[in-house]
This record gives sequence, structure tokens and C-alpha cells, in this order.
Amino acid sequence: MSTHLVHFGTKTIHFQIHRAERKTLNIQVHPDGLVHVLAPLNADEGAIAQKVKQKAGWIIRQQDHFASFLPLTPPRKYVNGETHLYLGRQYQLRKVESENQQVKLYRGCIEVHSLDTSDSAIEQILQEWYKVKAREIFADLLAEYLSKHCRFQKYSVNLHVKKMPTRWGSCSPAGRITLNSELVKAPKACIEYVILHELCHLIIPSHNRKFYRLLSVLMPDWENWKARLERVMV
Ligand SMILES: [Zn+2]
Repeated sequence: MSTHLVHFGTKTIHFQIHRAERKTLNIQVHPDGLVHVLAPLNADEGAIAQKVKQKAGWIIRQQDHFASFLPLTPPRKYVNGETHLYLGRQYQLRKVESENQQVKLYRGCIEVHSLDTSDSAIEQILQEWYKVKAREIFADLLAEYLSKHCRFQKYSVNLHVKKMPTRWGSCSPAGRITLNSELVKAPKACIEYVILHELCHLIIPSHNRKFYRLLSVLMPDWENWKARLERVMV
């Protein structure tokens, strides 16, 4: 395996060549943006680069698609006054020393009550709270869509929520929908967009014209919420 590059307009595409016993060339863009070229053992490097260049438009579109699902939230320090997002709104972190451990949204603040108000203790409590809220909210929304749109009713869907470094959501052919718990920080319509996107994959696995037509029927303004999702998580 070796890394190569080609230039396309102002962009540079890095790609790795994997040689194998095969007859044709196959280009893949992985969800992390890496480009893999599967090539026959004797394929000429210049010819491979030429092929990558020919496919550059498609490669960049794939990379952009995956990048749009990358959470961009910078790391938080868990100090008083810091901004934290919940369902698209900004809340100021307020630490309250208390025996009764809880998280409360109150007058634009996200209050974390705890005996231990060290940054790391607050971080742990808040992360757990986000996870619980994410599970609750995503499960409710999913149940709502499954009952509302009968076209999904023949699929048995199970929901998994976890923190994912590179994606907002994914869907397996077996009906396992995985959503990034960080999504609970985005506006509700953004969460709806990701859930509907993944539900559409139950019917159409790839991002073809049919897929986007179905998504547009279910959520005509999905593009707005996709763009919002890309902007809000900073
Ligand atoms: Zn997709």
C-alpha cells in the first residue's frame, strides 16, 4: 500500500493504491474521506492516477457528503459561563454545589448540581445527561415516523445511540439505525432530517436520485436542515 496524489482544479486528492489479484480498477471513498484504489497487480501508476483524475468530481462529491456528517463541536472545558448546546439552543454552564445531583435547564442556563464541582466531575455528569436525553428524544421521534409513514412499517428497526467521531447516523440493511448522541445538541428538525435520511436507506441503500426524491417527499426542506446542521455545531 502506498499514498499518491493528483490535482484537480484547486483541490488535491490523496489516494492509496491497494494491489490485488483482480482485473479492473475500483475507486472507493470511505466515510473518513480517504480514497482507496483497488488495482490489478500490474496496473501502471500513471494510468491509475489518470483514472482518479477522471473520477475527481465524483470523489469530491462523496467526500463532501461524508464531511457534512462530521460533528464539528470543539472540545469544552466545563467551566462556569461556557456555552453548551441543547436542541439547537445555547445555554450557559452554571455549576451548583449541591447534595442533590441533577441537571436543570433554567433561564438560559444549564445548571449542573453536584457535590463535586470539579471540571471533570461536571463533564461526566453532563455527558451522561446528554446521552440519556439523546436516547429519549431520538426514540420518540423514530416511533413517531414509524407510525406516521406506513412505507417503513414492514421493516423492524432498532435504534442505537452512541457518540461517533465521524458520522451523524448510519443504517444497516438489517434495520439497525445508529445515531450520534451529539445530535441532541442540534435543532429538532436537524435530528428529524438525519432520522428520515437513515430511514430512507432502509428502502434505498445508496444516495441516488430515487433516494433524494423519497427524502424530499418526507421532508421537502431537508436541504435547509442539512445546511443548518453543518453550521450549528461549531
Ligand atoms: Zn446516507
